Amino acid sequence: LGRKISGALNNLTSAPVIDTATLDAVLKDICRALLESDVNVRLVQALRQNIKKIVNLEELAGGVNKRKIISKAVFDEICRLVDPGVEPFTPKRGRANIFMFVGLQGAGKTTTCGKFANFYQKKGWKTCLVCADTFRAGAFDQLKQNATRSKIPFYGSYTEADPAQIALEGVEKFKSDGFEIIIVDTSGRHKQEGALFEEMKEIRNAINPDEIVFVMDATIGQAADGQARAFKSAVEVGSIVMTKMDGHAKGGGAISGVAATGSPITFIGTGEHMHDLEKFSVRPFVSKMLGMGDMQGLIETVKDLKLDENVDMAKRLEQGLFTLRDMYEQLSAMLKLGPISKVMGMMPGMDGDMFKGSEQEITNKLKRFMTMMDSMTEEELDGDGKIFNKQPNRIKRVSLGSGTFPEELEQLLTQHKKFAMIVKKMGGNRGLMKAMAGQD
Ligand code: GDP
Ligand code: MG
Repeated sequence: LGRKISGALNNLTSAPVIDTATLDAVLKDICRALLESDVNVRLVQALRQNIKKIVNLEELAGGVNKRKIISKAVFDEICRLVDPGVEPFTPKRGRANIFMFVGLQGAGKTTTCGKFANFYQKKGWKTCLVCADTFRAGAFDQLKQNATRSKIPFYGSYTEADPAQIALEGVEKFKSDGFEIIIVDTSGRHKQEGALFEEMKEIRNAINPDEIVFVMDATIGQAADGQARAFKSAVEVGSIVMTKMDGHAKGGGAISGVAATGSPITFIGTGEHMHDLEKFSVRPFVSKMLGMGDMQGLIETVKDLKLDENVDMAKRLEQGLFTLRDMYEQLSAMLKLGPISKVMGMMPGMDGDMFKGSEQEITNKLKRFMTMMDSMTEEELDGDGKIFNKQPNRIKRVSLGSGTFPEELEQLLTQHKKFAMIVKKMGGNRGLMKAMAGQD
């Protein structure tokens, strides 16, 4: 999608004049790209109308850059599609916050409950899990396994058949034990059927959740619209988690789901493992869809690691500075996060040619980069790398001292220069947004 839309926008740049016909042609390309990535047809039509309304070519003064206005309108309108303008529920410390997860079977509820619990637990919330799925055999075992792995207290039953009863017992127990984040996993069915919605309502009535989280599989394509509507009409969907965004999901389901429920997406699932959960925010999501690296995601990740030295770095990144030491911290954070190939994708400007190979090969390469940086002086680390141009013998020294080759150090410096340039160009986070809006 990203490539197609950027392509359409690039055509704007190469068009000698921009008139109604050019605009129509560009909009047609963009709409086709959106439809191909499963955005609901009605939404696409609305988007086209809105952009045409915003961009009134005749009214634009001669001196104004029409291309930028059109690119900005497209970006803003796509953002509007994924942003219902509603704040999601935010849990409060020192009290019980009850989250009830709903969605079809296989959507990723149980997995997401585990990730969600892990997310809050890591942030220091007193977190627990309740399994109210009595429909699927093995549901309790699955939740138990996730919970045990992350050392999160859980509640469930092998014998009680009434999901509302179990949900209530679990919630009451954890409430009285002073838990802050109580996550209730429910069952799904293969399709949107009456029995499922009845059960959902019974559980909802029993536990009175603060937030109902609708878990939606991003790979379901055009079905997203109808599915989201059905759940919304059965219970008060407060927020959405889109799962399987790591696969071939085209992102259009996310847009359609938001539009259908009017509820914000809070997280996206990007894999089967505990840490494959990313905070969602609209503009970075759209810029990623449109083909830019996800700077915001990167900054969030660095902040999330809660390593003191990284707080500074997030700040500097936002200001657009990027030293060799920043790169060192970046690489070490990436290695901790793994899987490395996925983390790499988040970093704009990663040299794809330099980092080809297996997971292990890439990891080794990054580690060698870090070894080289370990042999640098403080002054070299805190600099922008230009010092090596002035003192080429240092290149030899550092590589010798770290048991690597001078060519590798040259590669490192090249990669660093790329990072630094991108960070600078973006002026950090706000700059990225500006660039995306075509106002740079
Ligand atoms: P539930 O029936 O809604 O509880 O769904 P499960 O949590 O059991 O998940 C169904 C399948 O989807 C499992 O194989 C999960 O590992 C997988 N899954 C869940 N979330 C994600 C995700 O974000 N990415 C990928 N690739 N797979 C996921
Ligand atoms: Mg489940």
